[in-house]
Parts: sequence; C-alpha cells; structure tokens
Amino acid sequence: MSGKESGGIGSLGELLVEFVCTEKDGHNRRAAPYVGPFASGAPGIFIDQAARVGARAIFAGAVGDDAFGSVLRQRLTEVGVSDKLIATVPGIPTGSAFVSYNTDGSRDFVFNIAHSAASHFPRDSKALETLKQFGLAAFHISGSTLGNPAMAKAALVICRALHDAGVAISFDPNIRKELLADPSYMETVRSLLAISAFVLPSAEDFEVLFPGEEFGTFSRRFLDGRARFVILKRGEKGCVGMDASGVVEEFDAHKVEVVDPTGAGDCFCATFVALVTSGNFSFREALRRANAAGALAVGKIGPMEGNSSLAEIEAFLGCRA
Ligand code: ATP
Ligand code: MG
Repeated sequence: MSGKESGGIGSLGELLVEFVCTEKDGHNRRAAPYVGPFASGAPGIFIDQAARVGARAIFAGAVGDDAFGSVLRQRLTEVGVSDKLIATVPGIPTGSAFVSYNTDGSRDFVFNIAHSAASHFPRDSKALETLKQFGLAAFHISGSTLGNPAMAKAALVICRALHDAGVAISFDPNIRKELLADPSYMETVRSLLAISAFVLPSAEDFEVLFPGEEFGTFSRRFLDGRARFVILKRGEKGCVGMDASGVVEEFDAHKVEVVDPTGAGDCFCATFVALVTSGNFSFREALRRANAAGALAVGKIGPMEGNSSLAEIEAFLGCRA
C-alpha cells in the first residue's frame, strides 16, 4: 500500500523489560523473588494500549539483540503496533527496570536506560519521514523519556517537527522530582507543554508544575493557547478534564483491588487520546472509557498486563461494545 493514511497514533522512547518484586519494603536492596520479564517503559505501555483500543499505531524505540528484546518486539507487534521504527542495536542489552513496592504505596525503581538499547530510538531524518508518512493524528511523549538529556533533546526535535506538520502532540509530564534542579530538564518540559494539544498530568505532576493553582485556572491557560484537552489524572480519586470550549467532565474512580498501579497513567492516556482522535467518541465518552481502562490497569501484576481492549473496557462499564 502506498500513500499516507490518517488517524494513527505514535510514540517514542524507552522500551524496557520490568521485574516486579513480590515482597514489599525491600527497596530493591535485599534478595527477594521478582517476577518478569514484563514488557514495559511508559511510552511502550501507552502504544500497546492505543493499539488495543483499535488505533493504527507506530513506535520509535530500540531493543538489544537478546531475549528481552524479543519479549518487547513480540508483545508490541502481536497487538498490531508497527515495528518499522523499532531498531535492534547489537552489542548492548535491552533496557530494564526493577520495581519494589512499599506498604505506604510508594515504589522504588532501579533503571538500566542510559547504557542500554532503550536510549537508542531512531531519530534521523528517515525516521521522522516514516512517522510523517504514517499519517498521525497524535504523537505521545512521556516525561519518563526526558530524564536522559540526549533522549530529551531528540524527542523534542521530533515533537516540534511533527507539531509543525500538523500532528497533535500529547504530553504526560511524569515529572521526576530528582531532576527538577536541572534547568535543561524543566526547559524541555516547558517546551513540550507549549506545543501540546493534550496536556495529561497526574496529581503529583500538577502539584509540582502548577503549585497552588486550581484545575480550572491552569487548564484555561493552556486551552486559551493551543491545547485541545487538559486532563488531570487523580489515581484512586478518578479524573477531571476540560476541553477547548471550557466543558468540564469528571469521573470518580471505580472501586477495584490494586494489585500493581504502575502503568495506569499511560494506559489511561492512550485510551483517551486514541478514542477521542478516532472521531467515534465524544470527550465525555472517551474520558469515561479512559477512567475505566485506568481502573482495569491496576488490577494485574506487570506494567502493561492490565491493558485492555475496547470490548473489555465497555464490558467493565456495562455498556454495549
Ligand atoms: P503512572 O503511575 O502510570 O505514572 P499516573 O500517576 O500518571 O500513573 P494515575 O492517576 O495513578 O496516573 O492513574 C491514571 C488513572 O487510572 C486515574 O485517573 C484513574 O482513572 C485510574 N486509576 C488509577 N489508580 C486507580 C485506583 N486505585 N482505582 C481506580 N482507578 C484508578
Ligand atoms: Mg504518570
């Protein structure tokens, strides 16, 4: 097939395998059983879920020539994500993460990103052309990718070029507090916020980025500029969003058992962006499904194991698929 299609969803960044500690409060500092490898990386979770709810999807990332790399490639291609821009980098391992949960709800991570294939996503002019030719309605960036300065710089260049080509940029700040002191990190966050059509902070991001502000005040500031939607993810309190015409939609969280909260935010963002850009769902109906997808995501161990199809989300909500 030749020519450009429309309506696709894209993302880029770190692809990781994740290992989850089965005991609490070990802080990754003592021997304990871990389960994994699970396919992971915030942007990877996002693109898997976008494909699950029916979007044409493409991802720019990289894996090593090893068993973990095949876990990731297989996982994404089996849900239909194009791996045209997923490189296999010889000589370095696939990226990885180890997570350990604490009884107070916090989590400790050990990441292997900078010195692994995870930091090598394709970023040359050919890759950009492939993304443009894919026919993207939206391109998503997760703040988790910005912790590495070289990745942050490359991601910003790609997002700016796609934005200039008319693609809606979607940004989940996923702020890393330990990086706040680095001026170039915050500069990249601000630059992405300035070009984003979808501004998708969590409650923690919101407190750091807009301290003391009301949701309505800060949303209007973005929506008066270029944003189409500002959505605040509130964990077990649900979500609230505003669209460019000032309409506010809000949902309480579903009552579910929390098995593994990692990835709920990425799953939520993907569901909302994919459904609302598909043209088949109103703002309210897309947000309702994102809120349900987030609740389903926390119920399974593994960062993207709780991702779900549109039919599963609608069955959970009790609406017709
Ligand atoms: P992440 O850890 O992936 O970065 P996040 O902080 O970006 O997550 P959250 O607010 O934790 O995002 O979760 C996103 C959405 O998932 C919430 O807005 C809510 O709809 C749903 N959700 C999250 N946690 C729960 C929960 N405990 N119960 C029900 N729904 C939840
Ligand atoms: Mg998040």
